[in-house]
Amino acid sequence: MPQRMLIDGKWTAGRGTTFPTYDPATGKVIDEVPEATDADVDEAVEAAARAFESAEWAGMLPAARARLMLRLADLVERNAEELSRLETTDQGQPLYVSGGSVAGLAEHLRYYAGWATKITGVTASPSVPDVDFRTHREPLGVCALIVPWNFPLPIAAWKFAPALAAGNTVVIKPAEQTPLSTLRLGELFVEAGFPAGVVNIVTGGPATGRALVRHPKVAKVSFTGSTEVGREIAAEAGRSLKRVSLELGGKAPSIITADADVDAIIAGNLMGGVFNSGQMCAALSRYYVDRRRADEFTEKLAGAASGMRLGPGLDPATNLGPLVSEEQLERVDGYVRLGKEEGAELVTGGARADGDLANGYFYQPTVFGGVAQDMRIAREEIFGPVLSVLPYDDPDELVAKANDTEYGLTAYIWSRDISEANRLARRIRAGSVYINTFPILDPAAPWGGMKASGMGREMGWEAIEAYTEVKSIWTKL
Ligand code: NAD
Repeated sequence: MPQRMLIDGKWTAGRGTTFPTYDPATGKVIDEVPEATDADVDEAVEAAARAFESAEWAGMLPAARARLMLRLADLVERNAEELSRLETTDQGQPLYVSGGSVAGLAEHLRYYAGWATKITGVTASPSVPDVDFRTHREPLGVCALIVPWNFPLPIAAWKFAPALAAGNTVVIKPAEQTPLSTLRLGELFVEAGFPAGVVNIVTGGPATGRALVRHPKVAKVSFTGSTEVGREIAAEAGRSLKRVSLELGGKAPSIITADADVDAIIAGNLMGGVFNSGQMCAALSRYYVDRRRADEFTEKLAGAASGMRLGPGLDPATNLGPLVSEEQLERVDGYVRLGKEEGAELVTGGARADGDLANGYFYQPTVFGGVAQDMRIAREEIFGPVLSVLPYDDPDELVAKANDTEYGLTAYIWSRDISEANRLARRIRAGSVYINTFPILDPAAPWGGMKASGMGREMGWEAIEAYTEVKSIWTKL
C-alpha cells in the first residue's frame, strides 16, 4: 500500500497519482508516495486555517503547547533508531549522520517547547498623556514549510518547532526525493496528541510547493532549498505580501592562514566539506590557503579524502554515503568535468564509484588544487564531495576573494592567531563564521544567510520573531 499524507488529522492517499522514492545506495524503488494535487493542498491549508482558529489550539495554554512538544520529543527519542534508519534508507546518508539528525530533532523540540511559555511583548512610554501602551506577539496563522532533501528531519524541525511554539499551524512539504521520515514523524505528531489540522503533511514536487506558496490562506512561507526557487518564492510572496523566510545555497570559504597547524585541522576541513557527501549548504568548498602552505594542505586533504570509506549508509563502517539521486550525481560529475576543462588540477577522486557500489549514486571524494577565483567550480554551488584549493598571497586580497561570491551563508577561519581570526571574521559577509571548527548548529544559535543565501534567520529567539507578528495595544486611561 502506498504511503499516505496527513491532512486534518487523517491519513489520505489524496486525489492524484503517486510517485516513487528510491534508495540511493541501490537505485531501487523503496515506496510510492502521493503527489498532492491543488485540491489536496487546498484541503490541507483549509484544515490548518480552521485549526488555527479552533478553541482547541488557539485556546490552548502555552504550557500545554509546550507539553505536547515535549511529548513529541520523547516519542522521537523512543523511535530514534527507526527514524534514523528510514532517513538513511531514503536519503542515503550514513547512520551516524541520520542518528545525529534525529537526536537534534528531539533537542530542537525541547528548546522551542521552552520558548512557548516565554514569548513576551514590551511596555513602552509614548509621549502621549493618559495612555497605557504595550506590545503583544501573536502567531501568524498557517505556515507553509517547504523542505529540501539533504537533511529532511532537522530542516523540517527548524521550521515547525518555532512555528508551533508560537501557536501557528503548519503544512509541511518534504522534498519529493525524501518524504518517508517526515511521514513517519506525522504518525508521532498524532500519537503525541496534536489536535487535528495543526500539523498537516503533503507530499509532491515543485507543483505541490507552488500550490502551497500561492494559497491565499497561507500567511507565511518558510523555504529551504535552491537560490533559484528561493527567488521565485520571494517574488510570489512579494506579490501577495506573505511573510517569508528563505534558507538558500552557499559556497563557503574556508581560510587557512600561514600559521595554521595543518595536521590538526585537516580532519575538520575534510569533514566540513564532505559531511553528508557534501550535500550541505554550509559545506566548506573554497579553501583559501596561504600560498606557503597550499601544497602541504592540498596533499594532506587529498590523502585524508582518498582514505574515506564509501558505502551504503546502513553499514556502520561507512564514512561517506551515496548522493541522493542519479540527477545529483550527474550534476556533481558535470562540475568535475568542468573543473578539469577549466584547468584545475584533479588531485584525487573525480569519478563515480564502481564495483559493488556501481548501482548506487556513489561519488568519490574529490580534491582540486590550483583553482582560480573565476573558475565556475569556485563560484557555483556543487552540492557534492568536491573541494577546491585556492592559494592566496596577501590577506587583503584574501578578504576580497572570500567575499567575491553571491552567497553568504557560512565561512570558516583556521588560525593559531585568534585575534587575527576574529578580525577576519568581522570582514567576511556570512550569516555564521566559524573559527577553528567545522559547522556546528544548535537551536540557541541563529542560523541563516546574507546576500543570495537567504532572508531571515532560523533558530534562537530570531525564529520566534519570524513566526510572530507584533501588535501595539493602546488604552486611553
Ligand atoms: P529545490 O529548491 O529544488 O527544492 C527544495 C524544496 O522546494 C523541495 O521540497 C521542492 O519540492 C520544493 N520546490 C521546488 N520548486 C518549487 C517551487 N517553484 N515552489 C515551491 N516549492 C518548490 O532544492 P533541492 O534540490 O531540494 O535542495 C538543494 C538546494 O537547497 C541547494 O542549493 C542547497 O544549498 C539548498 N539548501 C540550503 C539550506 C540552508 O539552510 N541554507 C539547507 C539545505 C539545502
